[in-house]
Amino acid sequence: MLKRKVLVAGGGGFIGGHLARALLQDPRVGRVVCVDIKPLDDWYQVHEGADNRVADLKDLAACRDACRGADDVYNLAADMGGMGFIENNKALCMLSVLINTHLLMAAREAKVSRYFFASSACVYNADKQRSYEVTPLKEEDAYPAMPEDGYGWEKLFSERMCRHFSEDFGMTTRVARFHNVYGPHGTWRGGREKAPAAICRKVIEAVASGRHHIDIWGNGEQTRSFMYIDDCIEGIRRIMDSSITEPINLGSSELVSINQLVDMVESFAGVTLERHYQLDAPKGVMGRNSDNTKIRGYLGWEPSISLVDGMRQTYDWIESEFHSHVAIQQ
Ligand code: NAD
Repeated sequence: MLKRKVLVAGGGGFIGGHLARALLQDPRVGRVVCVDIKPLDDWYQVHEGADNRVADLKDLAACRDACRGADDVYNLAADMGGMGFIENNKALCMLSVLINTHLLMAAREAKVSRYFFASSACVYNADKQRSYEVTPLKEEDAYPAMPEDGYGWEKLFSERMCRHFSEDFGMTTRVARFHNVYGPHGTWRGGREKAPAAICRKVIEAVASGRHHIDIWGNGEQTRSFMYIDDCIEGIRRIMDSSITEPINLGSSELVSINQLVDMVESFAGVTLERHYQLDAPKGVMGRNSDNTKIRGYLGWEPSISLVDGMRQTYDWIESEFHSHVAIQQ
């Protein structure tokens, strides 16, 4: 059997790094090419067995280079971050449209057999997310369109681009809408981090500094679901291998408020912090959860790693990163 040649666009990032590791361990895969715009030193994981390249995939020529000889393309490259980043960098987020558009064009020219696009729960209509008491979002709730400004519009447009490359050119495309992914080897500081990593870091900083308070964006009542990275990778691979032609939720359905998430992380650290609520800070929609009826129906599977288990792994990893950074600075 011929082994598959795979491209991971955004391989230096959080999800791309974990996906590349899983692909390298798969006996059906013969070659993994990882491409990212960041210098190699800044990649979250650099896998020795992969062909690691630095290139700007907004550029069509770079996409042609990357897709040459590939059977499968996973597009996990995007200029993105948590709410603090996407609310203040809408143009940068929208420019990721160039990555997906040029990758699709190059993948079609290279006759790749399957193409995966990482979409987001940020495509969902904002009107459906105005309450803490959420009704989980079904795939059809993306229309009529009123996604997150900037980042969500880019994702929704790129989803449709995949759909039309499939309908008009016969390409096999798969689209998953990720709901808040977290875990080790991701962004935990610097302004692009998301709530789970930011809360872990803030609690660890409070313990280390002895200043026992924590800043929380919003009033802490916002609700979300968070998917552990191992479930995300399993889901990506199952969706790629499936015959699902429509965009599908890939998320946990375990709903939690930000305050409950802080309670959990405090319990890992064995502290109770004074909470300072920053009501003007970016906080995103009031509530959001993933309706997993469709993915269960198609795959007989859905993300199942509990928040407490995943957060414990994430906390331990961020704590060790934090202390090694402090040690380097001293
Ligand atoms: P990440 O920021 O860790 O990874 C994205 C990678 O893309 C980065 O390493 C970045 O350097 C790279 N990149 C950006 N512009 C590029 C360019 N022009 N050329 C080449 N590489 C470029 O983010 P992630 O969490 O790993 O997210 C992966 C994908 O999943 C993204 O498309 C993101 O929008 C989507 N997503 C993530 C989440 C989440 O919670 N992490 C939720 C929904 C959707």
